[in-house]
Amino acid sequence: MPSYVFITGGVVSSVGKGIAAASLGLLLEARGLRVAMLKMDPYINVDPGTMNPYEHGEVFVTDDGAETDLDLGHYQRFTHAKLSRKSNVTTGSVYNAVIQKERRGEYLGKTVQVIPHITDEIKTRIRMLTAEPEDDADVAIVEIGGTVGDIESQPFLEAIRQFNLEVKPTPCCFIHVTLLPYIEAAGELKTKPTQHSVRALRDIGIQPDVICCRTGHRSLGPDQRRKIAMFCNVTENAIIGAQDISPIYAIPLNLHAQGMDQTVLDVLRLDAPPADLNEWRELVERMQRPREEVRVAAVGKYVAHDDAYKSINEAFSHAGVANDCTVRLEWIDSEQFENGVSPEEVLKDFDGILIGPGFGKRGVEGKVRAVQYLRESRKPFLGICLGMQIACIEIARNLLGLNEANSTEFEPETPHPVISLLTEQKGVKDMGGTMRLGAYRCVLKPGTKAYEAYGLDMISERHRHRYEFNNAYRARFEKAGLMFSGVHPRKDHELVEIAELEGHPWFCASQFHPEFKSTPLKAQPLFREFVKAALAEKKSRGK
Ligand code: GLN
Repeated sequence: MPSYVFITGGVVSSVGKGIAAASLGLLLEARGLRVAMLKMDPYINVDPGTMNPYEHGEVFVTDDGAETDLDLGHYQRFTHAKLSRKSNVTTGSVYNAVIQKERRGEYLGKTVQVIPHITDEIKTRIRMLTAEPEDDADVAIVEIGGTVGDIESQPFLEAIRQFNLEVKPTPCCFIHVTLLPYIEAAGELKTKPTQHSVRALRDIGIQPDVICCRTGHRSLGPDQRRKIAMFCNVTENAIIGAQDISPIYAIPLNLHAQGMDQTVLDVLRLDAPPADLNEWRELVERMQRPREEVRVAAVGKYVAHDDAYKSINEAFSHAGVANDCTVRLEWIDSEQFENGVSPEEVLKDFDGILIGPGFGKRGVEGKVRAVQYLRESRKPFLGICLGMQIACIEIARNLLGLNEANSTEFEPETPHPVISLLTEQKGVKDMGGTMRLGAYRCVLKPGTKAYEAYGLDMISERHRHRYEFNNAYRARFEKAGLMFSGVHPRKDHELVEIAELEGHPWFCASQFHPEFKSTPLKAQPLFREFVKAALAEKKSRGK
């Protein structure tokens, strides 16, 4: 059985528990331990797949096709933990399982209640994370979403309190992440909200072992450290200051400098060799000293929520470091191209153009115009999922002469459905978890840009979409110079995975989501080569 670390949050939501959990995972791995990671979300959706990413943030997809919380993206980028359907539990999925058991009669004669039935199911999920022999881990890090004091998260907190008792004498470690607000008039960081939050936690029966304090761009002083330690009944060395640092990849180094990993290991009574963080340190230094900058336009719907395309933003930071540059990603509203603004006017000074994932008709025609401009002006282009579909629509209309070509998602009656539903998707009525999801193999064609980027014959990338390239049009596209450099082999017919345009400096679009597998130490090949092409484009303009 692994040792367990539970991470809770206090004072405000979005306090940074996900990064704290991922950073601790990274530090424990640097000390030779294997980690497993679990996120528990106290909302009633069975998974976040049906939520609006503009409100809730990106939906992260695992190899086994689970639609999960974006914190799993942090886990993926910081650690080697195996992520699957088991790595994200929601209130909805817990209730779903309990209600199904009740209907099957598994609780016959009993009144089914939050305690013990819901809390038992939560504990089962925690144990299931490492139940299979291949899940072997030394430490399981479990992050509880939400804020202590919320009604929603209570069953989860009660469950981890019971869990701690059940595994005795093996110790668990409780880490509470809080915020210290800065009060201008007093000129200091305030500890009172943290004290109250810890009191709420102790009311439930959980005494934190470590308190991780977010302090904005200020650092935690000795006075505040002493005060929090005393009021919250925690030793001073276990009060960790978590200052905002850029890039986020520097955060584990800061936590390590304050001895966080050792404090956690002491609580867990585990021995481990000293941390080897050399490679990580070099990476952070390279990120902090970029030689150049490229500007990439992300053409899409207006996005107010920074986290809606989290993995794409991060994949660009990894691709930047692989090319010794920073990538400045600027969001460009595609609807303006439908209202008289010319794409050239807005896009001409960019070094590359991205059209990313998306759903629904709004802004699509503007994106098609953006593709026409970048194709004709030979700007580097990366299309992801919807971005690939848009590229096909544009080429069908302007190179194949199929003026009304479209995706049946936007125009169900189009005479030229170059993007359409596979037969297996046609009868689908439920929206939750029914898209083409998760990892699929993709065979690459030698001599293509995709093949050069990966240096492999066969790759595996993750999907999240319903519509596909329509093979009935394939030969016509190929004649016009659109090469299908990656395909998923199936018994009946191949599915197009990557399309690239011959004779263009860099025009590559994938039906899969390359961003989900990018990590800082291993930039995703399509992102990496796109950024390289953007650097070349910048030079060619004499910039
Ligand atoms: N809306 C498109 C589809 O469902 C693309 C989805 C996406 O970009 N993730 O196929």
